[in-house]
Amino acid sequence: MDTVTHDLVIFGAGLAGLRAALAAASASRGKLDIALVSKVQLMRAHSVAAEGGTAAVLRPEEGDSLELHAWDTVKGSDFLADQDAVELFVRTMPEEILHLEHWGLPWSRRPDGRIAQRPFGGHSFPRAVYAADKTGFFEMQTLYDTLQRHAEVTRYDECFVTALVAADNVYRGLIAIDMKSGRMLALRSQALIIASGGAGRLYNFTTYSQTVTGDGLALAFRAGAPLKDMEFVQFHPTGLVPSGILISEAARGDGGYLINKDGERFLERYAPQRMELAPRDIISRSMMTEIEAGRAYPRPDGLDHLLLDLRHLGAAKINERLPFIRELAIKFGGIDPIEQPIPVRPVAHYSMGGIHTDLRGATPVRGIWAAGEAACVSIHGANRLGTNSTAECLAWGRFAGEDAARFAAENALPPLPEGAVADEERRLHDLLRTEGTESPYEIRAALQETMDRSVGVFRTGEGLTGALAGIKELADRARRLRLADRGRVYNTDLITCLELQNMLEIAEVVVAGALARTESRGAQARRDFPNRDDQRWLIHTMAARNLDGPRLGSLPVAITRWEPVERTY
Ligand SMILES: Cc1cc2nc3c(=O)[nH]c(=O)nc-3n(C[C@H](O)[C@H](O)[C@H](O)COP(=O)(O)OP(=O)(O)OC[C@H]3O[C@@H](n4cnc5c(N)ncnc54)[C@H](O)[C@@H]3O)c2cc1C
Repeated sequence: MDTVTHDLVIFGAGLAGLRAALAAASASRGKLDIALVSKVQLMRAHSVAAEGGTAAVLRPEEGDSLELHAWDTVKGSDFLADQDAVELFVRTMPEEILHLEHWGLPWSRRPDGRIAQRPFGGHSFPRAVYAADKTGFFEMQTLYDTLQRHAEVTRYDECFVTALVAADNVYRGLIAIDMKSGRMLALRSQALIIASGGAGRLYNFTTYSQTVTGDGLALAFRAGAPLKDMEFVQFHPTGLVPSGILISEAARGDGGYLINKDGERFLERYAPQRMELAPRDIISRSMMTEIEAGRAYPRPDGLDHLLLDLRHLGAAKINERLPFIRELAIKFGGIDPIEQPIPVRPVAHYSMGGIHTDLRGATPVRGIWAAGEAACVSIHGANRLGTNSTAECLAWGRFAGEDAARFAAENALPPLPEGAVADEERRLHDLLRTEGTESPYEIRAALQETMDRSVGVFRTGEGLTGALAGIKELADRARRLRLADRGRVYNTDLITCLELQNMLEIAEVVVAGALARTESRGAQARRDFPNRDDQRWLIHTMAARNLDGPRLGSLPVAITRWEPVERTY
């Protein structure tokens, strides 16, 4: 085991992690020694896949306002968002867009040279700032470029964090395995920022990269940090069938239609005013209702689909605004959207829940902050609006970076308990040597199948109870794993096992929360409890770890200005 010491460790190098690194480096004027840890090469974080845009109010003179952005976000969240956090968020975003502009991001522009903005679902003004349909890629590239100016940031690429050590509710350090050499590494620092992304891969039909397995959520949970609102999983309306690759909402923002087998723009029945630009939870439910009513194109694999029609936009607009969507549809669907509609159906997309933090991203464990999709502050409540996530990564990456840097400068290095390192070394050693019989790949596939089947757009008590029992059974099987590769260097079998353990831990929290919440709100649609119940459930779900499963509690929602009303679009 090698031990390295820094002032601040950032666990995750996606948008939130890179923004945090830049904020910490600037706040400390080069005086802090910062580590940036990622299980993949830096530019392979899922953030590079973000397509459609980032929300910010830039045009008050044309009718947009911070109040309107806040209201859209609160209404979109089905009133579960904390309104003080939302107000802070909308106030911060215009400045973040200008930071990126000054760092050289090639935003798409209007003919007059000003930054362009496109419409997005649930936003009542076109406020998605974008760079064609590769926004996340350009954001990552710009932050990465800017970070090159900071020699005080040390990168640990392809380093898989296996444990987070805390004692007496104080952060102590991280343990990781350097995948290239197989050596274990103890990282010590005064402060930690968890920016490890979401858990989209709990599902098989998902828009997320293979690497998005909820590691940081599970590690923080084990170290004593509570998880919040994990039952709220967003289903994006337009996953390309059969791969699940995302067809960005920008396709509808720029005018695309959703149609059923009978050629109808069926959203007239469900969201007559906003149509294709209603929020994602509402469109996904409408699509599943159409599919279940037999008004979709059947497929033998069960992925019955509807169509996303862009043909009326014309080749010039598609090539200029949606070149990546066209490329994806051609390469992965064999369909050119200029000539044919794209086969789509709702797909698991985003974790609204995450590690509970305060307004500035601090977790209840002293010395640990969380930002980006791993965190739940919460601005998305029960349903996130498109383009508010990359935005959140920027805003809270910055807050967490600034505050953690200050904390690191003012506090001493906490001791790393000796036993913790030895225990983790033994755990991994034992895993490499186990004589079990179970394949991690089979258990992972069974878990994803369970989540796809029973924890989808519509849920029932019976389905969730079955899913919970199924997950417990899989967790039991996962105690008898067998690794085909027992080497140390780039052992992807070992990484798969570690990810699987994390996924099983998180899946249980998602399902337990969904089962307990006997109402329908935002992305949680219970067939057996079809109404929103503000009397009982206008609260956040908090999950703490117990030996026999998550222990659930609650936290009030911060309401500053907007009392809950019926949500129509
Ligand atoms: C296809 C797609 C399109 C999207 N489009 C948009 C959009 O247009 N607008 C929008 O607002 N949102 C969009 N989203 C959502 C948004 O992109 C994500 O929520 C956001 O980028 C997450 O960023 P992050 O920094 O929190 O995490 P990620 O970008 O997921 O980064 C996580 C980091 O943590 C590291 N990590 C994880 N586990 C470990 C471990 N065990 N050890 C070491 N390192 C680890 C990873 O290596 C990575 O560096 C999209 C999402 C997808 C999947």
